[in-house]
Amino acid sequence: MSLLLFNNPSVPHAGFVWLVGAGPGAADLITLRGRNALAEAEVVIHDDLAGQVLLSFCPVGCQTIYAGKRAGHHSATQDEINRLLVAHARAGKRVVRLKGGDPSVFGRLGEELQALRSAGIPFEIVPGVTAACAAAAAAGVSLTQRGLASAAILATGHECAGKSGPALDWDALIQPGATVCVYMGTRSLGALAEHLLANGHDAKTPLLIISNASLPSQIIRSGTLETARELAREAQDTPSLILIGAIAAQNRGLFAVKQITEAAYV
Ligand code: SAH
Repeated sequence: MSLLLFNNPSVPHAGFVWLVGAGPGAADLITLRGRNALAEAEVVIHDDLAGQVLLSFCPVGCQTIYAGKRAGHHSATQDEINRLLVAHARAGKRVVRLKGGDPSVFGRLGEELQALRSAGIPFEIVPGVTAACAAAAAAGVSLTQRGLASAAILATGHECAGKSGPALDWDALIQPGATVCVYMGTRSLGALAEHLLANGHDAKTPLLIISNASLPSQIIRSGTLETARELAREAQDTPSLILIGAIAAQNRGLFAVKQITEAAYV
């Protein structure tokens, strides 16, 4: 903190913002640096958390502000979150912006950095365990693997209305030798699989859907492009990460896996 803070002459009395990756859910998967930032925080602005354990790392009297999307709560817009970050830092506070997984992966980090930079607020990004890594760990597979996967691609399956930017070329992404890690993809997986099958992709292309990775409620479902729609339907109401590619076939027999027909994973 001190290096950035004191090297920035334009904001001599400014506060400081840590943008901290909370990890995938299990409280002990936050980094030590992230936990240390929480221990110094005066204000924490957080997304949905799997439990209250991470907030218990904050000092007594720390103000916690929920900015997630939980049902029944007003969910803050990105502009509101940006304004909150800047306002608390300008008031001289040590602020932690706590985000699920890693802040730089589908976490709207870019917008928050832009707001902080424009306001001249010093900050530090503290990385976290992203869902793709937690999902691979849960399933006992390696995202890259010599001879099987020379690339691991992080992609979002969620195309929001009015989204700017290029649509993904899924036919190019799904290829032998790569693992595609799909975030926010359970609702669109059925349509995606049908598109890929229609375009000649191998129906036996293996995939895994890992729900609630790292949590006691974790469920791992295995299948192929052919069974993807049914698997995705089961998983769609739970935060789930889809791994598509040869490595997805590697977990069989090693870890408890819920096949479509099996009873709940315990
Ligand atoms: N920044 C986060 C991703 C935010 S997008 C990260 O680095 O992980 C939210 C999506 O992440 C969810 O829809 C889901 O696809 C995935 N995700 C988050 N936590 C997860 C978990 N514990 N298990 C499986 N997928 C998860």
